[in-house]
Amino acid sequence: MKRPKDDVITLDDALWERVMAATDGAMAPCFQCGVCTATCPWSELQNEPVNVRALMRRAQLGIEEPDGAVWWCTTCRACEAQCPRGVPIASVVLALRRLAWQDQSVPKGLPGVMWALHWDGNPWRRPPSQRAAWARTADVKRFEPTDEILYYVGCTPSYDNRSQKVARALAGVFRAAGVTFGTLGEDEPCCGDAAFSLGQHDYFRQMAATTARRFSESGVKTLVTVSPHCYDMFRNHYPATDGFLPLHYTQYLAQLVADGRLRFEQPYPITATFHDPCYLGRENGVYDAPRQVLEAIPGLKLVEMPRNHEAALCCGGGGGRMWMETKAGERFSDLRVREAAGTEADVLVTACPHCIACLEDSLKLSGSAMRVMDVAEVVAAALAAGGASP
Ligand code: SF4
Ligand code: SF4
Repeated sequence: MKRPKDDVITLDDALWERVMAATDGAMAPCFQCGVCTATCPWSELQNEPVNVRALMRRAQLGIEEPDGAVWWCTTCRACEAQCPRGVPIASVVLALRRLAWQDQSVPKGLPGVMWALHWDGNPWRRPPSQRAAWARTADVKRFEPTDEILYYVGCTPSYDNRSQKVARALAGVFRAAGVTFGTLGEDEPCCGDAAFSLGQHDYFRQMAATTARRFSESGVKTLVTVSPHCYDMFRNHYPATDGFLPLHYTQYLAQLVADGRLRFEQPYPITATFHDPCYLGRENGVYDAPRQVLEAIPGLKLVEMPRNHEAALCCGGGGGRMWMETKAGERFSDLRVREAAGTEADVLVTACPHCIACLEDSLKLSGSAMRVMDVAEVVAAALAAGGASP
């Protein structure tokens, strides 16, 4: 319901019930302290910060007054980590997005992303026949049930030129460690992250059912993802009965290091700082595995940014923001690159295709001599320094 000019609010019971049903009343404990608004990184970038507190209040009252906050949110959950009442703010935001689709009130461009998922099976609007093109020079075979793992590449590393390099590097690392693996090639299905994070939850459930069926028919027991977003979907949003174990690749590499299968023979002398992807860290509690892998490399010095682990700053690419425009100079990644440069690291390392894209974009504008690399690329380079050919 629109607020009249005289500032009188008329409450609408039917609308209130609709919002309550969609959100499960999750914002009810909010007592309007405003910590979320102060924590949200948008307050560091925009004169008018995204007013998360007001968004929660309107949701409590069932007032429909769209101001875009629902779509600015990257679902990074930094605010949730500080909320004294434990309000699942990002989940409320996703529920409000679901209602926005029902009201046909979504930013232009997003329906096109959904159509791309429907017709092409990926949000990049690329033909399914090109899905395995990244692997042409990487000597990757088709998955067989006797393989140790299914290498689940995901849409962004399959189609985005920059992320394809990460996909190839990781395949080489698996080979160097003697892992038997394969992919589903052109038949690899999308995990559904774009649909879920943009609030198309009914469509996501259809996609998840199709994808899980394909894994089951292929005999998949353990799958290893490149992206923390795919990992999060499989771990937290697919039915627990789907019968396969999802791992993020940093978890799998940490295990290979611990088992002595992944070894580094020569020093790889760089100073690196690690950017925790939100969907690996805050969302799934995986902080140690990427650091254990990096610290196993002789000569590599790991330094932390002021905001690390649970307090890490988001890159700005989660929560479907990859599919929406953000002006240069107003991006979370602009802040993050400045923070990383302050550590005097040579390399800003991360473990997520969305983070790589956002951080590299900001780095180009920053003038810094730092590089952005994925953990998989650092490991591949360290193996190559020791004479291995990943
Ligand atoms: S931090 Fe939590 S309790 Fe405080 S305004 Fe935000 S949602 Fe409400
Ligand atoms: S989840 Fe992140 S982007 Fe969204 S409101 Fe909270 S701090 Fe801001």
